[in-house]
This record gives sequence, C-alpha cells and structure tokens, in this order.
Amino acid sequence: MGLLTQAGAELTPDAEDADVIVVNTCSFIGSAQQESVDAILEMARHKTGGKAKRLVVAGCLVERFRDQIAKNIPEVDAVVGTGELDKILAAAGLESAPSAPGPFNILTSRPEGDHRRSHGRFARDAWAGAVSDLPNYLYDDRTPRVLATPGYTAYIKIAEGCDHPCTFCIIPQLRGQFRSRRFESVIAEAERLAQSGVREITLIGQDTTCYGEDLGLKDGLALLLEKLAAVDGLRWIRFLYAYPNKITGRLLETIAAHENICSYIDVPLQHASASVLKRMKRGGGADVFLRSIEKMRRMIPGVTLRTSFIVGFPGETEKEFEELQGFVKEAAFDWMGAFGYSDQEGASAFNDGKKLSAREIESRRKALMSAQKKISRAKKKALVGREFDLLLMGPSEETDLLLEGRTTMHAPEIDGKVFVNDYPAGKFPEGAPPQKGEFYRCRITAAHDYDLVAEII
Ligand code: SF4
Repeated sequence: MGLLTQAGAELTPDAEDADVIVVNTCSFIGSAQQESVDAILEMARHKTGGKAKRLVVAGCLVERFRDQIAKNIPEVDAVVGTGELDKILAAAGLESAPSAPGPFNILTSRPEGDHRRSHGRFARDAWAGAVSDLPNYLYDDRTPRVLATPGYTAYIKIAEGCDHPCTFCIIPQLRGQFRSRRFESVIAEAERLAQSGVREITLIGQDTTCYGEDLGLKDGLALLLEKLAAVDGLRWIRFLYAYPNKITGRLLETIAAHENICSYIDVPLQHASASVLKRMKRGGGADVFLRSIEKMRRMIPGVTLRTSFIVGFPGETEKEFEELQGFVKEAAFDWMGAFGYSDQEGASAFNDGKKLSAREIESRRKALMSAQKKISRAKKKALVGREFDLLLMGPSEETDLLLEGRTTMHAPEIDGKVFVNDYPAGKFPEGAPPQKGEFYRCRITAAHDYDLVAEII
C-alpha cells in the first residue's frame, strides 16, 4: 500500500470503486487457500461486470500456485509473490516493465542479487538445490508504508522466513529462509511510527526469537527490545511467536526490567508429548516445557502466557493426546489456541500414513478447548477487583452501549477483550467521552470465560 500510494494511487476499501484490485492471499492451510481463491473469484466479477480494469493476486498463494492461477483464472492480470513486493507497481499498471512481453511475465523473474544468508544446518540441507526459488524480499525503514491498523498501534516485521524443520509446516517454502532486518532499520521505523502517534508496537516474524542470529548477534531480540524500550512515546512493546528453546534468560530479564515491554510471551508449543514433538521435528516435551514456564513466571512476575497446539497430528495416540491434556491443565496458560491438524501437500507429515479422521481430530480439539475454558474462566475471575492500564479501542464491535479496550495481557486481534461499561461522568464532561487510542486506568468488575468487564477509574 505504501509503494502504491507513493506512486500516486489512491487507496479504497470498496471493490466497486477500484480501477485496480489487489487480493493479498494466505496459503498456510487448506481453508486459507480456499478462502483466498473465493476472494479472487469474487473480485474477478468486478472486472468482468464492474469498473475494475486490472486484477492482481499477491502473497503466499502465488508462491504455491503461480502457474495454476495464471492458467485457471484468466481474469487475473498479474501475480506478485512474497519475494516480489517491489513488482507491485508494474503489476498494478503504474509502472511499465520494459522487458516484459505479457502481464504474467512481468512477475516471473526473481529480485536481483541474493541477500540470503544460511545460518542453520536445516537451511543448508533442506533447501540444497532449490535455493534459487525461495523468496528473499525484506522491507526496510525506507520502504513506504501505510498502516492498516488504527493509528495508535502498529506491527513491525523484524525478520522473515524460517529455518526450522517442523514436519507439518510449509511456511519455509512460502516465505523462504530466515533473514533478519538490520537492527538500525527496525529502530528507525519504530522511531518514525512513534513520532506519528503510534503508542503500541507488536514485533512479528515467523520466528522472532531467532532475530539477529544471521547477523551474528547473540540475544538479538533482547538487544532490540532494550533499544526499542528507549524510543520516546512507545508505551507498549511486545513480540509474538517465540520458539520454545530460544527463550533465553537474557530475554526474560529484559522483559522484566522494562515497564514498556509487555510482560507477555506467546510461545506456540504445538504439542506436549515428547514422541509427537519428535515426529514434528521440534523437540521438547511436557517436563522441559513446565520447567521453562516456571522460569518465565519466576523471572517475570505476573507474566501473561499464550500458546497454541496442533491436535490430531498423524499417528497421535490416545495416550499422547491425554499427555497433552494433562499438560494443559498443569501449565494453566492465560490464553491457548488449539488447531486441528491440517494436511499440507509439500510438508513431510503429508506422507505419514497414520492419519486421524477429521471427526476424531475435531473431537480432540473440542476436548482440549473445553479443558482450557475452565482454566481461563478461573484465571479471569481472579482478576476481578484488580486495576490495570487500558488502551481504549473505541465503541464495542458487539454493542454501541459498551466501549472496548485491551490491557498488556491482550495482544491485538488474538486474545479476549475488555468491555468498558462505566467511567466517572465527572471526569468526562458531556460530549467528551474517553477517546480511542488513549490509555486509562481501569478496574475489572466482572469476568466471563475469556472476556473481562471493566470500569474506567
Ligand atoms: S517454526 Fe513455525 S514457521 Fe517455522 S517451520 Fe515451525 S511451525 Fe513453521
């Protein structure tokens, strides 16, 4: 959006008004692929029977099905893979590509140069022979950006790609090898965002805890967080998607030492049975994880922990699933997501013959979520009466009668919500209610399974 705007395009969220439609796709699991294809077909109708003159498909679906998109959806004029963001202008018809004989050809060449660095055994072994086809794009602080989030909050991608060999996952094939943005580039972007009014930043990447390894940095994420904590105006800083065995003592110390680094760790564990984790090529197990959780809670008092699990991985026995259930009860996470195993062609687990039925997978998923629901209810209830800082997000999406916001325990878009049903009228004169994007002190007055109710004090 930044590149397009800089080139003079005007953005519109309404497909009917658009001359050029860009569908940004996901291809992580089957349902995401289907959703992406449905969106492309829906947008194609605006080209055949509406105002649109060009249809561009961008993102992960392109990395997987580049040729099929071109062959099967003739309305598509151009595709832009995850490693080709700078080709968006030519794709949208805003810049000519002199050597391109046809619309699809504009986008088939790879970016010049190869800035990838290989830093893992897996990276070298697994991609040998296929390296030239991997995306290697990485934006920097000079890349123009238009925030798709409200003005007070922003995501910053600090690294791209992944070198882990998880057998259920095709992300490394879609996003390429792990590569970090330069330290100074991330800081410069954070400073600029803070100057423009952003108060909360969320660092993302497929594997944020490996940040800097390819740049030769040790404890790169901790060093980066320390620098970001000193940026004027940033009130909440957090990172998502920690890899379990990459959470170092230094990282925990850094979180604990800075008030504006949220005491919040999202560590997707995927399973707790050592045998399943071994088949997933991830390692670890319930005992190791419990020790690590104990350390996080000890070093960061009051830390909020989120995780996610895959249930019904090929060959998952009743016993292995029970082990996972036992672990969930013992670990008592603040937030937890459970996902049914989704078979992905191209992932090595795809060839494992011992698949569970969709019904069995769903029943295990529901059982795990129901165990967590009880934990969540008890944890939320224990918060009643306590006070927290709240970032107000505006009127509730569910009813105009309530406001809603988040505390440091709530990452944007993933965790439950805090509904605000009261504020002191004396402090907010008629016509000047609490404002979205501002921070207020609040007291929790009621709790549901996942959501909280609060009053501004
Ligand atoms: S660490 Fe995450 S992104 Fe990387 S291969 Fe494993 S599941 Fe996929």
